[in-house]
Amino acid sequence: MYRERGGGGGGGGLRLEMGNVDRKRINDALDKHLERSSPSTSRAFNGKDKQSIFTGAKPPPDHRDSRSASLAENKRSDEESKTDSEESDVSGSDEDDTSWISWFCNLRGNEFFCEVDDDYIQDDFNLCGLSSQVPYYDYALDLILDVESSHGDMFTEEQNELVESAAELLYGLIHVRYILTSKGIATMLEKYKNAEFGRCPRVYCCGQPCLPVGQSDIPRQSTVKIYCPKCEDVYSPRSRFQNNIDGAYFGTTFPHLFLMTYGHLKPQKASQSYAPRVFGFKLHKT
Ligand SMILES: [Zn+2]
Repeated sequence: MYRERGGGGGGGGLRLEMGNVDRKRINDALDKHLERSSPSTSRAFNGKDKQSIFTGAKPPPDHRDSRSASLAENKRSDEESKTDSEESDVSGSDEDDTSWISWFCNLRGNEFFCEVDDDYIQDDFNLCGLSSQVPYYDYALDLILDVESSHGDMFTEEQNELVESAAELLYGLIHVRYILTSKGIATMLEKYKNAEFGRCPRVYCCGQPCLPVGQSDIPRQSTVKIYCPKCEDVYSPRSRFQNNIDGAYFGTTFPHLFLMTYGHLKPQKASQSYAPRVFGFKLHKT
């Protein structure tokens, strides 16, 4: 499950807002919403709909007939329990034990990232050279490690957003190093086994699981691609969200070091290839 971030990655505005909305209003608004929505109400509880429910201005006037009322009542109690858990996930920014790292890795589009060990990040040696590449480095690092920063209150909204995007860059640059360590590569192995990096779209690769790769090790050059070990080619990820992820957070080395490390997982090279035919005849190469 992923938490909504307010306005395109900026701050935890939505979370805070939702924490403060009073329960009565939520229930009333929910009631109204359920009354209007189709039987598959659970589908309505995503993204924007959720936001519009929770920020709905006033309780709607009650004008249901009794049949739909009891129906809605039933649905509401179902949904309430569901929503309770969603809500606590969304609003409990102070108490909840979700770390920034797992929150980040669970954002839509960030599925390729693995969770980097805190121990790895806390070792200055591993972060050597990154402070010059990342603005707001110390704050970004505190954010990643969930260290309460006393400076947080002094920042404007805009500065907070800058720190957030700096944290994303810093995490990416730590990540590309981490996935080349034995622990990191083992974590990526688990994801590969579950085909979490997607499968090769080429028909003759028969759904071969792929590995993430960057075309450059320099940030902001290109987005992440997937490498198929069978046809040894690269493709764009299927999800448009993944298509926005910087390839430098995975790097040019990872899939190849991975296949050297786990040699037994390297599939046989694709033997079949597609032959174009016209009326059943192969085309003559001219
Ligand atoms: Zn392939």
